[in-house]
Amino acid sequence: MTYDLTDRTAVVTGAASGIGAATALLLARSGATVALLARRTERITGLAERITADGGRAFAVTADVTRDLSEVVRTVHDTCGTVDLVVNNAGVMLGNPVVDGRTDEWKRMLDTNVGGVLNVLDAFSEDLVAAAERGPSDLVNISSVGAHQTFRDFSVYTATKAAVTHLSANLRTELGPLGVRVTNVEPGITESELAGHVDNTAVRQTLATWFESAGHLTSAEVADVVAYATSRPRHVNLRHLVVLPTTQV
Ligand code: NDP
Repeated sequence: MTYDLTDRTAVVTGAASGIGAATALLLARSGATVALLARRTERITGLAERITADGGRAFAVTADVTRDLSEVVRTVHDTCGTVDLVVNNAGVMLGNPVVDGRTDEWKRMLDTNVGGVLNVLDAFSEDLVAAAERGPSDLVNISSVGAHQTFRDFSVYTATKAAVTHLSANLRTELGPLGVRVTNVEPGITESELAGHVDNTAVRQTLATWFESAGHLTSAEVADVVAYATSRPRHVNLRHLVVLPTTQV
């Protein structure tokens, strides 16, 4: 299913795979021009080519959300002008028992899942506020059901997602009155490359068991929620969406 996002200009971070790639594809199919941001240039270039071949509008901008984004913002503005829809999706999930002291992983998750979300907010909030004076304007943060639930060996990951959920709720108090919708999406288990970065065999096994026993969503199903929320009439804000496989409790 597609939605009406005609004349919208979107940035999707983490568009190289999973939920970000599926979201970029659906936003473009729904009429938006989409800037695809991620570190793996070949992936986002390939996706941009696929979208263009389908008759959509998309372009790739290599970006690491943990770094300075001023050049990225310049490229986006030069290519498509100011943006009115930002999907803060880039993230990493690394799991190990906390007593193993993998502070390298903790830092990477904090830098990407929290620092990256803030960098992207800083990069595009001016655009979003300006866009809200003319029409719909959306900030979508992809958090996780882990913001509320406990998952053994994922203490730091879930803490980063709790930060995103709390940030979204508070941002609404600032941006909502300015006309910018803030939508926090908390997916449950979703098929993507996310689990592939876990380097602990036992934790990987646990993840595989959850995946099998609890069921899972496709990335396209989460993308559908993002496109639905951002295509509502501009005064309607679905502020907090938890999307789970029916069998995940
Ligand atoms: P993927 O691993 O498939 O996608 C993650 C994306 O983030 C990739 O495109 C990756 O691209 C990008 N990324 C990672 N680090 C950076 C960085 N420093 N700068 C820019 N881009 C980066 O996983 P998902 O699609 O599942 O994850 C998307 C979001 O959904 C994440 O925030 C995740 O926490 C959240 N989520 C996922 C769930 C799931 O079960 N899959 C459940 C709940 C939430 P590249 O490596 O090219 O930079």
